[in-house]
Formats: sequence, C-alpha cells, structure tokens
Amino acid sequence: MAEGWTRRQLLAQASIAAAVYTLDPHELCCGVNAYAQTAGADTFELKKVGDGVWAAIAAARYKVNSNAAVIETNDGVVVVDTHSKPSAAQSLYKDIQGVTKKPVKKIINSHFHWDHWQGNQVYAQSNPGLEIIASDRTKARLSDPNQMNGGVGFVDKQIASMPGEIDKIKAELAAAPNAETKGRLQSSLTQAEAYLGELKALKPTLPTRTVSSTTTLMEGGREIQLHILGRAHTDGDLFIYLPKEKVLATGDAVVDWMPFLNDGYPEDWGPTVGALEKLDVTTVICGHGEPAPKSHLTFFRGYLTDLVAAVKQTAVAGASLDEMKTKVAEQLAPKYEKGMSKYPIGQYRDRIGLNVEMVYNKVVKKA
Ligand SMILES: [Zn+2]
Ligand SMILES: [Zn+2]
Repeated sequence: MAEGWTRRQLLAQASIAAAVYTLDPHELCCGVNAYAQTAGADTFELKKVGDGVWAAIAAARYKVNSNAAVIETNDGVVVVDTHSKPSAAQSLYKDIQGVTKKPVKKIINSHFHWDHWQGNQVYAQSNPGLEIIASDRTKARLSDPNQMNGGVGFVDKQIASMPGEIDKIKAELAAAPNAETKGRLQSSLTQAEAYLGELKALKPTLPTRTVSSTTTLMEGGREIQLHILGRAHTDGDLFIYLPKEKVLATGDAVVDWMPFLNDGYPEDWGPTVGALEKLDVTTVICGHGEPAPKSHLTFFRGYLTDLVAAVKQTAVAGASLDEMKTKVAEQLAPKYEKGMSKYPIGQYRDRIGLNVEMVYNKVVKKA
C-alpha cells in the first residue's frame, strides 16, 4: 500500500498497472511507461514539506514524469527538475502560481535523464533571466549528441523511435480483446501522439550555470546547498539540501521504488547515499514516489550494497547470469521486496533481473 497517496491517485495507479507498456530498457530510463490519462490538472500533487517548501509528486503518466521540489524564497521561486515534457512543466507551473505569484528565478536539474529536464523551456520562456543550474557532468551529457537516455541528441532519437512505438500501440489496439483494453490503449495512443508532437516542438533549454563541487546558494534569504558527493545514479548527480528546513531532494539517486542502474555506478552509489545520511534530514523528496523519512536513505543504500555483494558472491560461486537473477532475487526478497514494491509500477520483481544484470555487467564482467 502506498502510504500517503490519495485514493484518487491509488485508483489511477491501480488501473494503469494492469497494462504496463514495456519498452527497450534504454528508452525506459528511470521510470515506467504506463497507460494513463493525458497530462492535466492532476499531473502533480503539491505536498508541503516545510515553510515555503513543497514536494510536487508526479502522478503516473504515459512517459513518466519526475517529481519536483518547489522552494519559495523572499523574492522568487527555485524549482528542482522539470519532468519529461513541457505540458507537464506547464501543469506544475500553474500549480506553483496557485501558491505564489513570485517569479521562478532558478531551475536545478538533478541529472541528465530525459524525464528530469525536458520541461526546462517552460520556465525560461516565462521568466526572463532564469538561471538553470546543473553539475558540469550533467551539462556535458545534456550537450552530447550521442548521449542515450537524456540530452539534446536523445530528443532526436526519441523523435525517430516514437512512430514505431505508436505503430505498436495501434497494432495492439486493433487486436484489443475487450472495451477496457481498448480504452486503455486509446488513451496511450493519444498520449504517445501528443508526446511526439511535444518532442518535435521542443526547444532544448540547457543549464546556464554549472557547479563542479558542493556549493551554497543564498537565495532570497534561504540557504540552499548543492551537494556533489560522488557517482551514483549517474556521474553528475546533484543533491539539493535545505539545512534549516532539513529537506533533501535527491533526483533518482534515491527513489521510492526499484532503482534504474543502466547509467549508474553500482559500487559508488551506496557510499554516495551514505554521504547523504550524514546530513541532518527530516524529509527526502525522491526522484519518483512519495516524500520519505530519512530512514529511507538507509534502506535504499542497504539494497544497493546487498545487491552488489550478492551478485559478486553468486558469480564467485560460478552461477550463470540466469541463475544469478533467480538466486539474488530470492536472497534479497525478505529484506527488500515489500519496501521496493509500494506502487503498482517499478516493483521489485519487475526490476530485480535487470538490476542484477547491470551489476554483473558493470562490476563482475569488468573486473
Ligand atoms: Zn527519473
Ligand atoms: Zn534518472
């Protein structure tokens, strides 16, 4: 059960979970594509996590949206991450204007993945002088035409691959066995076509300022620390920490479901989360899922550490990759299956095989 979710969100999640649309893992990135309603007023729920600080929790959509952190200062607003598409950023921007009319002064992109930056343009268009901050590694990847899973080049790659994705939905729609499936696929098709339209019109808006080590911003009377603590989900993860409010925004280096390891550094990731645990934190705004208490950092680090250890151990014992997937899944399940399966998407059993494979490729095979 997803504690803290509204009944409406739970119902929406449950109805889409019946038919999760699977893609090539490279396109899947950090979330899961799913059938859901087109982006609208219910795309985000603003949850107050401190005085003038909100977690914008994304509802499930076809093409997953990241969460955002919204930080109000004396003279403006700072927003962490901008989701997978301008329409989603527009939707959150409208929600923000419902709580404050102050201008958005800064956007921070936690990392380079497509579902965390493709809405940057919305804030830039409406807020002259907007500063967009990321780590130097993240900006380099966003600017790299060959980068997968995010950045200017990946926009074109998605434009090239979306027609195939749309054709596949159309074929499934033609073969739909009942009205319920048909309705779901029709919604998916509408959203996929709208997403392709948004990609074609996208004005990729890159960071205007980079940081290469931990930096403190004094922003309209509020202290905002930007921490660079090592490699984790990517090589450029930026952590946003408010020491007074004890709020931490992690991007996908900490999520409330199973992690996506394809661009990650399995052996570095645990220690990086360990460094986050040294901060005085009350609320963690994860890249995906509900706001979490500090104890979630320890749980999530434990999973990464135990996963790497279990894969290494089964490899030494001579297991094949397939045997490894089964053995590690069973070995870690008692400790992690429940906590990693709070939502109908991104669950333990959906992802453990790919997680094992990634650790095998990046840690064992490389050694
Ligand atoms: Zn993400
Ligand atoms: Zn990510």
